[in-house]
Amino acid sequence: MRRDIHLKLILPSLTEATSGGWRSIKYSLFPPLGLATLAAYAPSDWKITLCDEHVQQFDGEDDPDLVAIQIYVTSARRSYEIADHYRRRGATVVLGGLHPTSVPFEALAHADALVLGPAEEAWPRFLRDFQAGRPRRLYKSRERTLENLPPIRRDLIDRRLYLVPNSVIVSRGCPHACDFCYKTSFFRGGKSFYTYTVDRAMEEIAPMPGRHTFFLDDNILGNRPFAEALFTAMAGCGKIWQGAATVASLRDETLLKKAVAAGLRSIFIGFESLNEEALRRRTGSSSPSLLDIRGLEF
Ligand code: SF4
Repeated sequence: MRRDIHLKLILPSLTEATSGGWRSIKYSLFPPLGLATLAAYAPSDWKITLCDEHVQQFDGEDDPDLVAIQIYVTSARRSYEIADHYRRRGATVVLGGLHPTSVPFEALAHADALVLGPAEEAWPRFLRDFQAGRPRRLYKSRERTLENLPPIRRDLIDRRLYLVPNSVIVSRGCPHACDFCYKTSFFRGGKSFYTYTVDRAMEEIAPMPGRHTFFLDDNILGNRPFAEALFTAMAGCGKIWQGAATVASLRDETLLKKAVAAGLRSIFIGFESLNEEALRRRTGSSSPSLLDIRGLEF
């Protein structure tokens, strides 16, 4: 196979991002770290371009050899349009993300191959088969680890287009299993919560310009030993940061103090319901709920 391969990575725009009732600012917050991670696995002599349709004009007049598209439920229609477009132009099209993992047979009609579940092990397998000229149609995540993850290709991201360019993700998944969450189906068939090593996390966090950092992890406090070691490493770095966690994790005052000493300034918490009756019915499930924060002071 010739070596001057052009890989195009695309995050199609969510439907609501282009509708008048939504503030476009919401969709220019964070750069597409998932696609920049996929790029890191590609051979160094490949040409790689990245288009985030939320902040960039999509140009379909080019002829990449390989197109990888990340699809959310609400971007599926647009994603399939783009996939069909590039398949007509002769590209090999790979689809992955939450939506293809949920409905693979629907997605397969628009793709040469699917990567289902987390991509860190399945995507490199696809790339090897593609380079050998015999890609298969389905690549399902088998092993779950972030060891040997190459440095993600932040150089492909135009920082000026994002309000929070210093976003980072140092884990995958979450230790909980709320039945309304994407997590269970996306991570089915393997570990559903795993983290970077602290050294690897610091390699990514420390060089980012400016002080502000945003952890996009589902639950930055989800693995206590990891979180504690990370906050110890971050203390004295001069960073300030935000992240997301569960209400239950906020009961750990020692860990919270470490987080604050490491630069924590605010934390996002998702509440499953504010309805007392609904919450009471759900106690006993593994979902952290509003009932868990009774007695906490904010
Ligand atoms: S705590 Fe949040 S991220 Fe974790 S399973 Fe529940 S809803 Fe999903």
